[in-house]
Amino acid sequence: MRRTHTCGDLRSSDLGKEVCLQGWVRFSRDHGGVAFIDLADRYGITQVVFDPEDLPAGTDAQALANVMKTFTRESAVSVNGIVRKRVDGTEDARNKTGEVEVLITSAELLSRSEVPPFEIGDQKEGVLPSEDVRLEYRYLDLRRTEMIRAIEFRSKFIHLARQYLESQGFLEIETPMLAKSTPEGARDYVVPSRVHPGTFYALPQSPQLYKQMLMVAGMDRYYQVARCFRDEDSRKDRQPEFTQLDIEMSFIEEKDIQDNMERMLAYIWKGLYGEELQIPFPRISYMEAMERYGSDKPDLRYGLPLEKLTEVFRETNYGIMKKIVAEGGIIVGMNLKKDIAGDKIGRNDVDRYIALAKKFGLGGLTWMRVVNGELDSNIVKYFTDDNKKGIKETMKAEEGDLIFLMAGPWKRTLEGAGLMRRQLAADLGLVPEGTFQFHWLVDCPMFEVDPVSGKKDAFHHPFVLPYDNFRKGACFDILLNGNELGSGSMRINRPEMQVEVLHQLGLSDERIEENFGWFIKALGYGAPPHGGIAIGVDRVIAILLGKETIRDTIAFPKNKKAESLIDGSPDKIDDEKLEELQLMSLAMDDVDFDIEEEDIE
Ligand code: ASP
Repeated sequence: MRRTHTCGDLRSSDLGKEVCLQGWVRFSRDHGGVAFIDLADRYGITQVVFDPEDLPAGTDAQALANVMKTFTRESAVSVNGIVRKRVDGTEDARNKTGEVEVLITSAELLSRSEVPPFEIGDQKEGVLPSEDVRLEYRYLDLRRTEMIRAIEFRSKFIHLARQYLESQGFLEIETPMLAKSTPEGARDYVVPSRVHPGTFYALPQSPQLYKQMLMVAGMDRYYQVARCFRDEDSRKDRQPEFTQLDIEMSFIEEKDIQDNMERMLAYIWKGLYGEELQIPFPRISYMEAMERYGSDKPDLRYGLPLEKLTEVFRETNYGIMKKIVAEGGIIVGMNLKKDIAGDKIGRNDVDRYIALAKKFGLGGLTWMRVVNGELDSNIVKYFTDDNKKGIKETMKAEEGDLIFLMAGPWKRTLEGAGLMRRQLAADLGLVPEGTFQFHWLVDCPMFEVDPVSGKKDAFHHPFVLPYDNFRKGACFDILLNGNELGSGSMRINRPEMQVEVLHQLGLSDERIEENFGWFIKALGYGAPPHGGIAIGVDRVIAILLGKETIRDTIAFPKNKKAESLIDGSPDKIDDEKLEELQLMSLAMDDVDFDIEEEDIE
């Protein structure tokens, strides 16, 4: 038996045809000896019917009935039959095959299914089993329509990206999985070498240095659907391994990379939705994003901007603000206009936001309402007339508005205010669902200094081309609805400059030579001006499909604890293998025998 159609193919125009369908038994119902089965595959569901009263002459009804008894849920089966119209009134308009059914004339069990641990219907989230059960039985979870659609969408997205990039002369080039560590700010997954005991490869955190060397090699335009590995503490929406659409170009400027990405996304958009994507995407500078929206990846689908009030409080009797201004901190205000929020946020809600402010890392939240044209709250008495006037003017305060002030050290305060903005937008229903807003974040710093540890880090990574005397980096992010989809930059193409940046990051000459000598050497052979970008494929798919987690866009993801429940990895390995890799003796070298002896006593 060979299938003639998939389970999503048959329509009224096929009435009377003899067909063979193969798929999985999703549901079956028995109506007085007549069995109705929903036969499912990736393409759809077709109702197939075993009706002993309605079989072609010569059919062995009993033998067929015996086969049908073996058709347990989720078994793989094959049926031959005749397409007929469904009984009037039993058509299913939601199903594209819903006007017809197949009257079974012969059938075969291809492979029996154990009782599935959960029902594979088109469940609402609420009736799905826990995610861990879904991941343990991912092959069953992937039979659900929602998962099939996500996997199809992902495949189509990648296919369209490839089509666009190939049309523009990009070459798809694979870079090594077993490599030397490329720092992207996370820990490496390492792979021991058997041939060179005691040494390790690192799985790539990104193909960054390889793609740059491809530019030195003259490949000119490169792309790769690249798997990257980062050993990070489990944070929401991170996977130990994830996929980037990785791109690099030579003899170009920042804008060329951005233009190409816009055109690629517009091409993908057209292919996915049949619609034009508005390009170019708006650009927002890092400074503006931070000071106006409290985030380096602001969601610009709604307002609630921040206004800077630091100058307004330069002279004040309000002790806290006075101190913050004197210490070089920042004061920002957010006006919750009467029509969107003023009336909806009562005294208790304000208390809740004050508590949240602390959770968001803010020192507190100062609030006031505009009543009878005046700022009203119990701290206003500490404000000078100029403070009041300044707030009213800067915040464009009107009757009934509710104003929040947030103050403290620059970054922490802005980030806290950004979280507050996001929370308020969600609470007040200001986030438009189903809309997509792309942005470029531009004009970024080269380095960032951790306010607590004082450690200087690259804003992106140390290969970004610095300018403005190392204050800025020629790097940028692509944002979608307040998420960072990816980041790109122009790169350093001269060895001396690369060494200088690594020095500025506090690396000694020895460290630089040991970790990056091989790469800096490559830059010394005529590296062209070059730059590129990497777009997080899992993330863009998740956002476009409205998924809570990127795990729902990956066929076999790890769970939140970085475990692969389907195969039980990570797992121990045999002593034999450890010995072969000489890891046992390596570990033994490190054992502190004194401590062990003490433990034994
Ligand atoms: N390698 C960078 C990353 O993984 C992207 C890039 O600069 O191309 O974030």
